[in-house]
Amino acid sequence: MEPSDKVLQQEKVSARAQWGTVTGTITNIQRFSIHDGPGIRTTVFLKGCNLRCFWCHNPETLRPQPELQIFASRCIGCGECFKRCAQGAHVIVDGQRKFLREKCIACGACAETCYAQTLQIVGEVKTVDQVVEEVLRDRAFYETSKGGVTLSGGEPLLQRDFTYGILAVCREEGIHTAIETAANFPWERIASILPVTDLVMMDIKLMDSAKHRECTGVPNERILENAKRLGEQPIPLIVRTPIIPGVNDTPEEVAAIAAFVAQLPNLVYYELLPFHPMATSKYDGLDMEYRARTLKPPSKATMDELTRVAAEYGIRARHG
Ligand code: SF4
Ligand code: SF4
Repeated sequence: MEPSDKVLQQEKVSARAQWGTVTGTITNIQRFSIHDGPGIRTTVFLKGCNLRCFWCHNPETLRPQPELQIFASRCIGCGECFKRCAQGAHVIVDGQRKFLREKCIACGACAETCYAQTLQIVGEVKTVDQVVEEVLRDRAFYETSKGGVTLSGGEPLLQRDFTYGILAVCREEGIHTAIETAANFPWERIASILPVTDLVMMDIKLMDSAKHRECTGVPNERILENAKRLGEQPIPLIVRTPIIPGVNDTPEEVAAIAAFVAQLPNLVYYELLPFHPMATSKYDGLDMEYRARTLKPPSKATMDELTRVAAEYGIRARHG
């Protein structure tokens, strides 16, 4: 064994030893993903977010804890869930089934018994080792496609140690590491994961802070400051804007963001992502309000035009 191999093996042992048993909560591990960074990737969706964008298409990732999601249209009325729930969270009121979410402790007993798959627990506690084991299953595809692992959500940096651990162990395994973040944190938290991150993808949704707060629940000054600092790091940066009708689907809004993004030295490209209204059943199943329920996706012509506007700022611009 060469000395360098020994060092590498020691590092592998120490990273696994240090981070392997750290736990976090995820909603899903999506294999063969092609929209979350270069090549074929495995995307890990972490649960919990510190923004509340009203158009979010992953509402199951917003709250940090595991929870029961109900797809009511699938229910065949067998009544098994009523029998299994010791908390009395499934009840009949005036002949209608009702779910008392405040009583549910997300134990999963009803979901296990639901043959029709009406009931599903979203959110699972995993160790870093368990996640990495799943990621490593597709190593061969990463090698041939120059892909890797992407941590998404939700907001991965809310679970900083879990995120760091997955990235660190994957990095040791030679897997390309990427993170999707809204960057709404003190800079130190973001900086702390950069040594194990090969690519950062972040959203800039709006330049006007008051409007940003109205649409996402938080102002954007810290996010923009972090974007500037990320733009100066020796790590590639992809900036993305979800295009939401009535929010930022105008040339003026996109031009303002593109002018800002054009100042970021390490920008790889700027990407516009069209809103899609496919989350209705998920919001209903989680008893969450969906304010974007009636919005229509922007047309291809709109996306083409907005992308052309962005490209006028001398950056590589594209739309999803
Ligand atoms: S167990 Fe599933 S299918 Fe049966 S009543 Fe409950 S939700 Fe409906
Ligand atoms: S997850 Fe557990 S507590 Fe919640 S409704 Fe089902 S059985 Fe009851």
